[in-house]
Order: sequence, then structure tokens, then C-alpha cells
Amino acid sequence: MTSDMCRQRLFNLQQKGRSAMQKEPQTVFIEYLNKKGLNITPQRRAIVETFLETEGHFTAEQLAEYVRKRVPEIGMSTVYRTLKLLIDSGVADCLDLGENVSMYEHAYGHNHHDHLVCTQCGKRVEFVCDALERRQEVLAANNGYTLTRHRVVLYGICSECQEKGIPTA
Ligand SMILES: [Zn+2]
Ligand SMILES: [Zn+2]
Ligand SMILES: [Zn+2]
Repeated sequence: MTSDMCRQRLFNLQQKGRSAMQKEPQTVFIEYLNKKGLNITPQRRAIVETFLETEGHFTAEQLAEYVRKRVPEIGMSTVYRTLKLLIDSGVADCLDLGENVSMYEHAYGHNHHDHLVCTQCGKRVEFVCDALERRQEVLAANNGYTLTRHRVVLYGICSECQEKGIPTA
């Protein structure tokens, strides 16, 4: 029996469009920094620009590698601090892959989606489940919360890894 309660919509990473009439993500980030009394240093700017040019999911180390093509002396701590600010401003989102591995992606101006992650090979599937989305709103409201954001990650073994017979335990 196939339960299709959750209609899955797979998103092509390239097709995630930004709707018109929205602020540029750079503007959102700079406004956030101003509110916090922080400056946009040249290093921070290079990280933010590189982040916004990079589609899909990537680790902080990968991002640092791309940034170093422009600013060779950039340090990991600056990258981590800037990513934290990008997340806090709502421009970026972070995906916990377990075992201390996190990946980052664009959030602002992109369609919301949640993730399925293969714990063997790291393969990721993006999905939107309308029923799950609604259920979370109800759950939050029942507890007196207005939901502002959420992150759902389902961990499992992808079909290719199952075929390879990797033990699922
Ligand atoms: Zn969701
Ligand atoms: Zn896999
Ligand atoms: Zn994603």
C-alpha cells in the first residue's frame, strides 16, 4: 500500500525563483547588521557575496574554499561567524547532517522546503509536504506559539545505499 498523504514536490535547485517586489538578500543582511550595530567588513562582504553566488547545499569549508579564490587569507572563524549572522538574519539556512556536519543554503527569497538526508552517502532530497506544514502550525498554535520558522530533517538510507546492502542498523 502506498500512502500518499504527503504530496512531494521536488525542487530543482536551479529553479528556486525569487518573487518580485522583495528586497535583495544583501540589503536584508546589511539592514540586519545595522540593527545589531555591526559593520560590513570587506571580508564579511566577500563571504556574503560568495555565499549568494553559490547555489545548492555546501559546507562552511567548501564556502571558505570559494571565498579564498577572492580573499586568500580568510579564516574559518570569520566564515563561521558570518554564516551565523546570515542565518540569524534569515538569509541563510543550516542543515544538520549529523556527526557535526552542517550544510548551508539560501533561505531568503527561496521557496521553503524540508529535507530527507541519507546517513550513508549524504544524498539530500528537498520536499514540501503541505499536510506536515499545516500540522506544525496547529501544533505550535495549540501551545500558544506563533510559528516563525522551522526545519524538518528526516534521516534514513537512500534507495541506492539500500541496494548496495549497507546495513541500516
Ligand atoms: Zn517545512
Ligand atoms: Zn545513500
Ligand atoms: Zn535544501
